[in-house]
Amino acid sequence: MSGKRTLIPDWAKRTTEDLLVTHGEGPHVVVTGISPSGDIHVGNLREVLVGEAIANALKTCGAGVHFVFHADTIDPLRRIAPGVPEEYERYIGHSVSRIPDPEVCHASYAEHFLAPFEEALRRMEIDIEVVRSHQLYEDGFYAAVTREALLHTAKLREILQKVSGRKIPEHWSPYLPRTTEGRLGGVRILEHLPEENKVIFVDEDGWEDAADYSKGEGKLGWRVELAARWKALCATFEPFGKDHTSRGGSTDTADQMAQEVFRYPVPGRYEYEWIQIRGRGAMSSSKGIVLLPGELLKIMSPDALRRMILGRDPGRALDLDLTEGFPRFMDEYQASSGQLLVPFTHLVTISQIARGDTDAAVEMLLQGGYREAVSDREKLAENLAYAHNWAQNWASEPLKLGLLELSEAVEAARGLDETQLQYLNEVASLLEGSMDGDTVQSLLYTKAAEHGLKPKQAFAAVYTVLLGRESGPKAGPFIVSTGVWLAQQRFLGVIRDTMAGGVEG
Ligand SMILES: [Zn+2]
Repeated sequence: MSGKRTLIPDWAKRTTEDLLVTHGEGPHVVVTGISPSGDIHVGNLREVLVGEAIANALKTCGAGVHFVFHADTIDPLRRIAPGVPEEYERYIGHSVSRIPDPEVCHASYAEHFLAPFEEALRRMEIDIEVVRSHQLYEDGFYAAVTREALLHTAKLREILQKVSGRKIPEHWSPYLPRTTEGRLGGVRILEHLPEENKVIFVDEDGWEDAADYSKGEGKLGWRVELAARWKALCATFEPFGKDHTSRGGSTDTADQMAQEVFRYPVPGRYEYEWIQIRGRGAMSSSKGIVLLPGELLKIMSPDALRRMILGRDPGRALDLDLTEGFPRFMDEYQASSGQLLVPFTHLVTISQIARGDTDAAVEMLLQGGYREAVSDREKLAENLAYAHNWAQNWASEPLKLGLLELSEAVEAARGLDETQLQYLNEVASLLEGSMDGDTVQSLLYTKAAEHGLKPKQAFAAVYTVLLGRESGPKAGPFIVSTGVWLAQQRFLGVIRDTMAGGVEG
């Protein structure tokens, strides 16, 4: 684990101090979880990162910690995720662990959505145990709490009715057996056989069947399961999003069920707010507004991602700006971790010119006076890749560059007039490798005036040959950052080719 990550933010420090008072010295079990019934996005990652911050804070205080990600793989599919074929409607009510992968690349529907998230957790080196609820049920891990729930059916029903304010049917059961068609629930429990871990139930068509709850032949209903799993997992802390913590919501019922039925203390809690993507709205798998952690790991390091997703305080809503505001975030992040060597926008320019050639990037950075930035080449290569990926996927047009190859530059220069070409010719003969950005800039201005060109026409000639467009970043510093030799070579190459073409033509 890196040193940076053990830096404990204030909100986590306060939450942990409270937790140590209310739940003792430990060992602690921090639980997070999600139902993999659609894309698991960075809003969900926020929950894991809140849990990680608390787990780290507990460790810093010397407490033993077990950090768990509970993938709710036995959960029934409620609605099909965007992009999944309509014929999947027939799997509504089936456990996501038992539904085939719509894209046939994983063992199940659940694994299809869980796998990329798990991969992100691995890449972020999060010290977490990922468990799958269908396996826990099949292994009998939840048998004791299921029995307990069934034995207290009346009390659980009463709590559910009182807290949710809804009329709960007379024949309600905390346990949902799986029918022969594979659906969870929708049946009536006739009898509970606690010694055999079984319930006898009758389905909608009047058929009687039995389900063994120590073998995963059903599951607890969500609200009961929440309280039951706290007890089974010995949870002492769990963060929740605001969708669960509203009045009469799932945590309200689970809290009472834990105390009055399962006789288990309610775990410590942190309520995190949602994340929205600027210009797109609140993140939501069912609406298809998602951003996967893996997408963000293409444009920043795991630690930068931690910083971004947690924000100053995860109890506050976060408006993710991945476009115009992103370079500033990166610069602030680098500065706060003592590594601001090159401004992000500059790396963006260089990464697009170098196109994966680290040697060329090093040359440009040295020309620009960024000596320190080239000392760790591996790190530099990584940062260039982040900057390049950002430019490809998120940057606005002015930041998207692409230095032309010589042949492309010759093609682009066909649109220039005689004066512009003479201007470039003279500039090329006067450029020197030792010049800085300002010197080049004033050279470009002086020579424009001498050739009777308006600055706009002169600079358009420069940008056309270098970038294939009429405007671009401030020309002097840009030429220096690409390497003066390179601009010189492009200008002279274009002149030579155009003149040769002229002779032939
Ligand atoms: Zn798949």
